[in-house]
Amino acid sequence: MHGLSVRVRGIVQGVGFRPFVYQLAERYKLVGWVRNTNRQVEIEVDGGEEALADFLRDLREAAPPLARIDMIEADERPPLGFSSFEIVESQFDVGWQSIPPDTATCDTCLEETLDPGERRYAYPFTNCTHCGPRFTIIEGLPYDRSRTTMRCFAMCEECRKEYEDPRDRRFHAQPVACPACGPKLWLQRSDGEPVEGDPIDLCAGMLEGGNIVAVKGLGGYQLACDAANPEAVARLRARKRRYGKPFALMVPDVEWARRLCRVGGAEVEALQSRERPIVLMRCRPDVDIAPQVAPGLDTLGLMLPYTPLHHLLMRRFAGPLVMTSGNLSEEPIAIGNREALERLSEIADAFLFHDRDIHARYDDSVVRVLGDSVVPIRRARSYAPAPLDLPFSATHDILAVGAHQKSAFCLVKESKAFISQHIGDLENLETLEHFQSSLQLFERLFKVEPTVIAYDMHPDYLSTHFAHEYPVPSALRVAVQHHHAHVVSAMVEHGVREPVIGVAYDGTGYGTDEAIWGGEILVADWKSFKRVGHLRYAPMIGGEAAIRKPYRMAAGYIWSLCAACEVDFGTFLGLVPIGERILLRRQLDSELNTPLTSSCGRLFDAAAALLGIRTEALYEGQPAVELEAVADPDVDDIYPYDILRDGEGWVIDPAATLRALWCEVRARRPTPTIAAAFHNTVADSTRALCLKVRERHGLERVVLSGGCFQNALLTRRLLDGLTKEGFEVLTHRLVPPNDGGISLGQAVVAYALTPGS
Ligand code: ZN
Ligand code: ZN
Ligand code: FE
Repeated sequence: MHGLSVRVRGIVQGVGFRPFVYQLAERYKLVGWVRNTNRQVEIEVDGGEEALADFLRDLREAAPPLARIDMIEADERPPLGFSSFEIVESQFDVGWQSIPPDTATCDTCLEETLDPGERRYAYPFTNCTHCGPRFTIIEGLPYDRSRTTMRCFAMCEECRKEYEDPRDRRFHAQPVACPACGPKLWLQRSDGEPVEGDPIDLCAGMLEGGNIVAVKGLGGYQLACDAANPEAVARLRARKRRYGKPFALMVPDVEWARRLCRVGGAEVEALQSRERPIVLMRCRPDVDIAPQVAPGLDTLGLMLPYTPLHHLLMRRFAGPLVMTSGNLSEEPIAIGNREALERLSEIADAFLFHDRDIHARYDDSVVRVLGDSVVPIRRARSYAPAPLDLPFSATHDILAVGAHQKSAFCLVKESKAFISQHIGDLENLETLEHFQSSLQLFERLFKVEPTVIAYDMHPDYLSTHFAHEYPVPSALRVAVQHHHAHVVSAMVEHGVREPVIGVAYDGTGYGTDEAIWGGEILVADWKSFKRVGHLRYAPMIGGEAAIRKPYRMAAGYIWSLCAACEVDFGTFLGLVPIGERILLRRQLDSELNTPLTSSCGRLFDAAAALLGIRTEALYEGQPAVELEAVADPDVDDIYPYDILRDGEGWVIDPAATLRALWCEVRARRPTPTIAAAFHNTVADSTRALCLKVRERHGLERVVLSGGCFQNALLTRRLLDGLTKEGFEVLTHRLVPPNDGGISLGQAVVAYALTPGS
């Protein structure tokens, strides 16, 4: 007889780890006990030497699907003389507990739900320890049914038996439920009472009839309608007041995804992953999808069903459904039944309600395959709040509040970074409230008490005000430059501390010279950065208005950068509304509300306007997204550009590029060719500048971050170009390249600048 004391850390709670240990102990005839504490699972076992070795091996290699093991420690000790193996009571004091986020329905639960012989046949809330809701229903930790919104459902005898049996897949599955004891589903018209009949059947019937139904999902309400019905989709757009941005679709299975899109191996994997995100993919031509779903784009966002409710609905409807977040444009997603009725009854014709409350709002996550990696574009349901491992351990708790768009905060405790779900653009009261309540919940759940607050240098962001007013007067407050934060967010994902060449291309970020930056090449480490390159400044005539009216960006470039060009831009300037022409010119000359920008996003806007692709933008980035959509990826042309010396660094001057682009437009070369050549030129000029930086600073590593790297063509071109030159190129895999990932970088910069860290 020998003895072992074992400690296991990682995501090992709420995943069926203790029953797994119990069954291992049974198999190897070991005696002792297992228990949860807040930091780890603790195991004491006595048994034969070989049995103990087998036990330890299986502990690591055969762990349950949702477990993530970071560390196993085992100490030998003399046997303690146990008589059986038991799961003993949990011990929780301080600290946080690491349990997995919400997870898509597992195969076993799906089979049960579809099997007429099972007691959970057609039950939309089937789940087990390997799947189902978690942080959307958790009100407090330690994770226990009494601290979830399941607490009001008393388990029936059969469910309790499963819940208490360590051999059962539902042992301590906190949201366990069945038709006899669990949540119920019903369909209700916006103007009336619940409708009699099978709610899934009724809902599918309404959708077939061209209606819009608000479906209560996992992290909030979704608005569903028949994706093949142009009239229904158009009505949803009008009612939701969402005019440009594409809608995501839910499709019944991978076959359907293949029918609609060009689905590669990485995409299939992402679609079927247990996070079940929306995957952006290239659309096939002439598919039977209403054009209003993704106007002007060559991509569709598809996801597979991820709750039993979705599975049942998709099986019954048997076609693609628009599934978009249940809100008015720009507001947070609705979660409460009464809230949904109040906020969505002007949009939805009916509601598919249920009575399991959603405690925390989580939008669907979005990913895209860029290069060879799956990159998060929106990190929300099923990703947050799983912590990221940091390559350091912080002595102070840190809060980083993010920027303005695609807000998400980051809390650092020791060596973990808890990044919130995507919250939205911080520009209305509802979103700010969502930000604040999510922060309070995170601080409480993970026991974080920040004494260091990181925020964006922009003086007017709501997040900046929030950071200044954060109610810990003694906290150290650290302003972080926007693009420095972008670069560091990508560095820390790869555990890189040493200086890198950071390429940060995005729409908007406050620069240290008060100009609007966004086409930046930095030499950066965690503490500081040096701006060694950027796109040449161009005027944004009318400031923000230039974002909505890309022809203003084009006019700004033409008048300022291309003023000395021989090329005649007259026909383009003719497209600028007559009344505005004189006004814009005057505004430019007087420098009134005409900030300078080095933004790469704005350069894309100008190119899209010159190409006539888009002269008015319904959302930021729309011109660039459409420019990418038309570009022919087989074109290798590169337009001229100049790299100018600028003090200690360099400036990319795109004047020659725009001139060449305009000549090609006038020569009526095909738009896809010109759009592609423009992408190639941005990538090539960046490569050329990186070469100069390498020569001067001896750096071999390039980091790509910023919203422009959601552009698959630009990313691939730049990756290829840099790799060919022998650079090591690091891109995002864990947090979005857009501002949704910026809080991670802010937190790490603040950590590096905190005395004593
Ligand atoms: Zn399951
Ligand atoms: Zn039950
Ligand atoms: Fe940004």
